[in-house]
Amino acid sequence: MPDEATLYSNGIIHTMRAGEGPAEAFLVRGERVAGVGSREDLLALAGGAARVDLDGCTVIPGFNDCHAHLLSFGLALDQLDVSADSVHSIADIVGAVERRGRDTGSHAWIHGRGYNQNELVEARHITRLELDAVSSARPVVLDHTSGHVLVCNTAALERAGIARDTENPAGGEIERDEHGDPTGLLKESAMDLLRRVIPTTTEVEGRDAILKAMATLSTFGITSASDAWTGHGPSIEGELAMYRASVRSGRLTARITLMPLISYVVRDDSDRVRLPSDFDVGSDPAWLTIGATKIFSDGALSTRTAAMREPYADDPSNRGILFWERPALVSVMRRAHEAGWQIATHALGDRAVEMVLDCYDGAIRDRPRADHRHRIEHCMYADETMARAIRDLGIVPSLQPDIYRLGDAYVAALGLERAAESIPIGLFRRFGIELALSSDLPVIPGRPLDVIRSAMERTTPRGVELGPHHAIPAMDAIRAYTWGGGYATHSERIKGTLAPGMLADFIVLSGDPAQTELDDWQTIQVVRTAVGGQLMYRG
Ligand SMILES: [Zn+2]
Repeated sequence: MPDEATLYSNGIIHTMRAGEGPAEAFLVRGERVAGVGSREDLLALAGGAARVDLDGCTVIPGFNDCHAHLLSFGLALDQLDVSADSVHSIADIVGAVERRGRDTGSHAWIHGRGYNQNELVEARHITRLELDAVSSARPVVLDHTSGHVLVCNTAALERAGIARDTENPAGGEIERDEHGDPTGLLKESAMDLLRRVIPTTTEVEGRDAILKAMATLSTFGITSASDAWTGHGPSIEGELAMYRASVRSGRLTARITLMPLISYVVRDDSDRVRLPSDFDVGSDPAWLTIGATKIFSDGALSTRTAAMREPYADDPSNRGILFWERPALVSVMRRAHEAGWQIATHALGDRAVEMVLDCYDGAIRDRPRADHRHRIEHCMYADETMARAIRDLGIVPSLQPDIYRLGDAYVAALGLERAAESIPIGLFRRFGIELALSSDLPVIPGRPLDVIRSAMERTTPRGVELGPHHAIPAMDAIRAYTWGGGYATHSERIKGTLAPGMLADFIVLSGDPAQTELDDWQTIQVVRTAVGGQLMYRG
C-alpha cells in the first residue's frame, strides 16, 4: 500500500530542525513524513491511519553515516577478528591465525582484520616470520584497523611476487628488516601489490556482504550510509554490480551513496572526465546513488602516515606521507570540480589539510561554483587559518570522533598536548562551520550512539580526557550525524530532519539523549529503525 498511513504518538519527537522544540506525534504516509505536531492536530490529518503508541520513547531522524566502508565492513564481518576486542598480544594473533587455519582446513587465504599495533602489549606490528610459524604454505593477510597498512606472511608475499629486490611503489612502502628482506608490513599503495593477487569476491558474495553490513547498520540506527571508497581493483564495475544486486534483492535495509575513487573519474589516459551518470547504479536513486568522488591526500595517524607539519612524537625523522605533488592534485581537483563533481578529500594531518585547502581554493577561484560542498574527510588537525579557509570556501569537514577507540594511539603518535587538539570540533564550531559526523566503519566498531558519546566526552580507552574544549553537546552531535550527514551528501532536503515531505527515515530510542547524563548514556538503545516508513529493525 503506497499511501498507507501510520500515526506515531505519545513520544518525544526531536525533528532536528534548527530552533524547533520536541513534538509529541508524527504522521507517516507512504514513504514520507506527512505531519509533525500534537496528537490532536495530527488526528485530524490521520483519517484511518494505523496507530503506534511510542510509550514515551524518543524519535529522531535516522543516522546518516556519510563516511563508512560498506563492502569492506560486510566482508570484515566474516573475516578473522584481530581487533583489540579479540587479541591483546602478538601471541594472541598467532593463536587466532592457527585456529582459523585448523577450523577452515583448506588452502584458501586466511584474511584477518582490525589489528592495531598500539593496542598490543608489544606495541609493534606482527611480522611475516611470526605468521609463517603457524601458516607456512597458506597465505595470511591481516589488515590494520586503519586500512592504511597490512601485514602478510611469506606465502602471501610470494604470490604477490614481492621480494627483497622489489621497489617501493609511488606513495607506498614495503617495509624491510636490517638485512633488506621484507618484514611482511606493506604500507599505503604497496598494499595494492598484494591485493591484486587475493582471490576476488564474487558478485553474490559481495551482495551478501553488503546486505549483512546494512542489516548491522540498521541495528545501530543508521538509515543512510556512504561508501567512502568505491573501486579497489583495476575496474570499479564489479563493485557497482554488487551494490546494484543488493538493491535488486529487495532486502536492503538502509540507503547507500557511493563515493568512487578519483582514479575512476579523472583518468590519465583520457581527456574526458567521467560523470556521476557514467556509473551504473541502477534506477532507484533513493536507495543507491553516486555522491562525491574520493581522493586520498595522506595516510593515518596510527600508522604514522598522516602528513603532519611537525614530526611524530615517537619518530622525529617522520612527518608522514603526502600522496600528491601539489600541481598534480590541483589538476585532478580542477578537472573534477569543473565537471560538476562534489569532491571528498581524505586529509588527516595539518600538512595535508593545508595543502588540500590550498588546492580547493585554486579550483574554486578559477571556476566559482555555487554549493559545491567539497569535503575534507577526517580533517583531524587544523588551525585558525585553516578553519577560516574552510568556512570561507564552504568546505564541509567530515569528522569521526573516535577518541573512545583510538585516542590512546593518538597520544602515542603525537604526545598528549597535540593529541588533545585532534578532531578540533570546538574550533570549527567557533567559526560557525557546518559539520558532519560519521564512523569510518569498520576502522572502528562505529555505533553512532558511541561515536556521539565520544564527541561529547573525548575520553580515550585508558581514561585520558583529550581537549574538553572540543567537546560537543549531545543534540548538536546528533544534528551533525543526521542533518549533517544529509548536508554532506546534498540530501538534506529529503533526509536528516522530520518534517512534512521528508523521507520517513527515523529511529526510536529507549531514552531521550537531550535528557540523559553521560553516565547513563549507555542505557539508550535503538529500539526501532524505519526507512521510508518501513520497519527495518526492531530491538
Ligand atoms: Zn575511511
